[in-house]
Amino acid sequence: MKRIYFDHSATTPVDREAAALALEYMTDKFGNASSIHSFGRESRKAVDAAREQVAALLGATPNEIFFTSGGTEGDNLAIKGVAFANRKKGNHIITSAIEHHAILHTCEYLEKQGYEVTYLPVDEYGMVRIEDLKKAITDKTILISIMFANNEVGTLQPVKEIGRIAREKGIYFHTDAVQAAGNYPIDVNELNIDLLTLSGHKFHAPKGIGALYIRRGVKVDEIQHGGGHERNMRAGTENVPGIAGLGKAAEIAKRDMEKKTARLRSMRDRIIREITEKIPHIKLNGHPTERMPGNVNFSFLYVEGESLLLNLDLKGIAASSGSACTSGSLDPSHVLLAMGMTHEVAHGSLRVTLGRDNTDEDVDYFLEVLPEIISRLRAMSPLFGAGGTARAGNPCSECQAHSH
Ligand SMILES: *Cc1c(COP(=O)(O)O)cnc(C)c1O
Repeated sequence: MKRIYFDHSATTPVDREAAALALEYMTDKFGNASSIHSFGRESRKAVDAAREQVAALLGATPNEIFFTSGGTEGDNLAIKGVAFANRKKGNHIITSAIEHHAILHTCEYLEKQGYEVTYLPVDEYGMVRIEDLKKAITDKTILISIMFANNEVGTLQPVKEIGRIAREKGIYFHTDAVQAAGNYPIDVNELNIDLLTLSGHKFHAPKGIGALYIRRGVKVDEIQHGGGHERNMRAGTENVPGIAGLGKAAEIAKRDMEKKTARLRSMRDRIIREITEKIPHIKLNGHPTERMPGNVNFSFLYVEGESLLLNLDLKGIAASSGSACTSGSLDPSHVLLAMGMTHEVAHGSLRVTLGRDNTDEDVDYFLEVLPEIISRLRAMSPLFGAGGTARAGNPCSECQAHSH
């Protein structure tokens, strides 16, 4: 059976050129980048080249790029690093309710250490309101951390406006750009971004490698202590194969950015248009226009997200859902709930995230099988009466056993 991968927000396949380069730095060119001899120098050269490639992707300079083990580490380093280094200036951090857990759980940890955190709400499209941000700022605020693009609904935040406000007030602005970096054009200077997290595996580099951009002059404490790697910001022998692969993936992403985003946008818009035309009782989640080029997220009422995923999987299609029943938790996604969605609607959500290798034929096939699966699941649902009439109630039988 043909298999179609529509889950690029979860991870992406490693680019073959990037993988070949990584392999070269595992086998033939295996030197420790800190060694003085030719083996070491060869690896150091690869790290330096990658630093330039990643910097170029963001409009930054190479000495502002620090390699990490990925998005989670970058987020931890940015938030804790700024919080610890600027404790004398203040103890207040502003973030949003729809951040990735790498941000939310780090902020919760800091709250236990005596920091104050404001979690900004979002509107029905998953967007932070600038007015709320302005009101939240106090003279104790040292950091604003708002994600560039949401990983579930794809909503792009008003990053430029946030950067402008942060700069005016002299507050550092960090953005978790793990979804956007390599998949959406970013210029840290144009957007007044002070710190930016990216992760390789979300744009065709290997897993376990990423980078944190730190604008020159921004005060950040290191979190991991040891040798003086990464100019004392991140101790530990450099993951040279991963770094080389990340650099190559960044170079390719920059080169193909315009072409790729245009293609994804056109596939995305076709899926949104046809689902809207063909399937009743649906809701588009996320912003209608300010969204990632490859993100489609719909709620299908009277359908359980996990049943939908399993049925798509049987047809060879890999997607994901905002209902977390499958992951052992009965709570629907914190993102969908923060957008004001009821548990009922959140449970029937489906996320399709497109990538550069998807084709129009993939989209044809998906649009052919989806309506049939939805009709079948609804026909089986006790909440969706014969003749297609909807009855009220919570469609997740498991969740009914729990009070919400
Ligand atoms: C995937 C993701 C992360 C975590 O990155 P890892 O490299 O997997 O640790 C953080 N934030 C967002 C928005 C993500 O999508």
